[in-house]
Amino acid sequence: MSQTAIQTPVIASSAPTLSIVIPVYGAWQATRVLGALLPLAALEILVCDSSPAPVALPDFPTVRLIHLQQRAFPGAARNAGWQQARGDYVLFVDADVVLTQEACHFVHRHLAANPHDLAFGLYTQDCADYNSICRFITTMQRQRFEQEFSRNHFRYGQSSHVLMRRDLYKKMGYFNPHLRMHEDKEICIRAINAGVDINVYPEFLADHIKIFSFIDLMKDHGYKSYLARETQFNNPDIFNKVENQLSTRFKTSLITSFISPILLLLLAGLNILSAKVAGGIFLGMVLSPLLLAHEIFIPSRLKEKLTGILLWPCMGATICIGVMLANVRVYSRALIRKIRYVAVLAELGKRVFFRRGMPVSIIHFVTSRCNLRCEHCFYKETLDLKDPGEQDLLQLEKTTREIGPVLWYALGGGEPFLRNDLHDIHRIIMQNCQPMMISIPTNGWYTEKTYINTLRMLQQMQRGALTIQISVDGPKTIHDAIRGDDSWQHLLKTWQKLKELQRIYPQLSLGIITVVNHTNYLSYPDFIDEITDTFQPNQISINLIRDTENRNAEVPHTVLDAYKSAIERYEWHIQHKTLTAFGYLGGAIVRAKESVQKELIYRVMRFNEFVTPCTAGALTYVIWEDGRVNACEMLPDTVGNIIGNNPENNFSTIVKNEKSDILRKKIVAEECKCSYECAMTINTLFSWPVAGKLWFRVLSGKSSSPLPLPETHTR
Ligand code: SF4
Ligand code: SF4
Repeated sequence: MSQTAIQTPVIASSAPTLSIVIPVYGAWQATRVLGALLPLAALEILVCDSSPAPVALPDFPTVRLIHLQQRAFPGAARNAGWQQARGDYVLFVDADVVLTQEACHFVHRHLAANPHDLAFGLYTQDCADYNSICRFITTMQRQRFEQEFSRNHFRYGQSSHVLMRRDLYKKMGYFNPHLRMHEDKEICIRAINAGVDINVYPEFLADHIKIFSFIDLMKDHGYKSYLARETQFNNPDIFNKVENQLSTRFKTSLITSFISPILLLLLAGLNILSAKVAGGIFLGMVLSPLLLAHEIFIPSRLKEKLTGILLWPCMGATICIGVMLANVRVYSRALIRKIRYVAVLAELGKRVFFRRGMPVSIIHFVTSRCNLRCEHCFYKETLDLKDPGEQDLLQLEKTTREIGPVLWYALGGGEPFLRNDLHDIHRIIMQNCQPMMISIPTNGWYTEKTYINTLRMLQQMQRGALTIQISVDGPKTIHDAIRGDDSWQHLLKTWQKLKELQRIYPQLSLGIITVVNHTNYLSYPDFIDEITDTFQPNQISINLIRDTENRNAEVPHTVLDAYKSAIERYEWHIQHKTLTAFGYLGGAIVRAKESVQKELIYRVMRFNEFVTPCTAGALTYVIWEDGRVNACEMLPDTVGNIIGNNPENNFSTIVKNEKSDILRKKIVAEECKCSYECAMTINTLFSWPVAGKLWFRVLSGKSSSPLPLPETHTR
């Protein structure tokens, strides 16, 4: 019999403080659940309720309601409490869980020991509320979360009651707010990936006061199997790492106990088996769980054994039905998504073919705020302004809808990660523009913000790639001299956290941007070796310093020589496979684009050659943080402003207005040329004849072979 009577243990004043978070939706036994938590003397008990009309809470002084305006999945509700919690530790308790006195003692002992693990608990097996179904189910759960748990590297506990240090979010992030189930499994995989230990403590016991009837249990199993399959299908990189902690023997037994009676009936009906033989086999199959799942059946009492025998085939059936229904749904939705994406590709093809101003690539400056003050920054005049200008989410929603589908959406700044809503910006762009890639450059200073925001973006991504590029200006001393003290140390820490994420999110690509300039040119090409060794990035973007005031300004030969040597050293690393960055889908195109693009930029800047008609203003646009729209970062001609509710503020109107039309024609007629990498990327892909060179390299399998930079003018 579990004990839930209140006995307040003596707490040392130096003991770490505790916050308790309870996610709630709908009716719950608030007084009972909260009453059992009072002996913990927590700093606060945060009830995170996303019901339209939350249940009135008992008048306990430390209990506080956080009412979430929209229905939240369990992870989102827990996060709401976690983010407001003040204690050193957070205890998450589900609304249908009553902590035992034993568990309260465990929590106090655990807090005093100050460990850094995820401490999961178990359900009691002998609560007075339980019926024989609940007893059998809790025995089964103990098998999964205690015995099987300890056998797996990627293992998980049930988040019905879990205790952890509050600051662990810095190491592993918060719960995934988008998962309807398996949010406990997902956070455990991230915890293990981040080196956080996870343990199950048998004395951390709670009564599960959700009492199942036979029908409830079947519905619950069927629905959970359905959701589990759907979750796994939508997040294969995460969930394929972990089993559901049911051994193959158990699973086989569950499924065969449901299928075999049907088969036997069929065989007996067709007179292939006699009724006697079929009956004998049937009896054997019915009793087989006693052997195949003996770990559950042997310790159970006779009544639970009999209940289990009856439940077993029914559970097998509901699991199979749930998984089958989920498969039908997920595969048909995937097919519909693919068909819809064909329409997106057709629209992009139309834009590339007709070139009437609707872009395939956007560079969007989402802030001009920055924590650093680099000498070379083109924002340095505005960085210290009181109101540097930023578009809110409503504006972004409107503009991205007007932009429609693009291939590449590049965010820029300032320091984009200074925006706390960066993950919301990412979500809006994914929904409205469906780009193949979103790229975000950063100075890498804010490890925690960058890690948490990147994780949130990855959790909400259904398709496409996310590229985070950290700017590195040279070896540590040079980088710090340009960017400020400790900049190198900060970016290194951020890089390591992102690398850790990449182990479980392959859609995350990590790049280094380095700009060859007057201050650092002597560091090249050796600095490329250092980048390769230290960072092992997916890609190194070697950029050339440009004068944004004067696109025709000459770059000194010493800097150009350093640029050339840096590119050649990068090629060497790719050829010698010390950088193996392009093995992903589409990697051959990116690789071919890089080598063709660098060759073009070098020819423009070294020999003042016109290499290709520029697609800026036709296929690429820049949107500044104050809403101005330009063809590129180099030409001062602004063709409109997206801020405002007038028709002329509509993005698709702006890019088709007279100013844009004149500018497009002028760019081509005047053979405009410069080294601006973003426009040159799109030129390389879609501006003839250089695009032909690129696609020939891709299609003939030569994309990884180096493209030597010319020694002399090539025209
Ligand atoms: S980090 Fe970038 S935005 Fe910030 S000051 Fe330096 S160059 Fe400018
Ligand atoms: S070449 Fe293209 S990117 Fe460069 S200044 Fe001209 S239009 Fe802008």
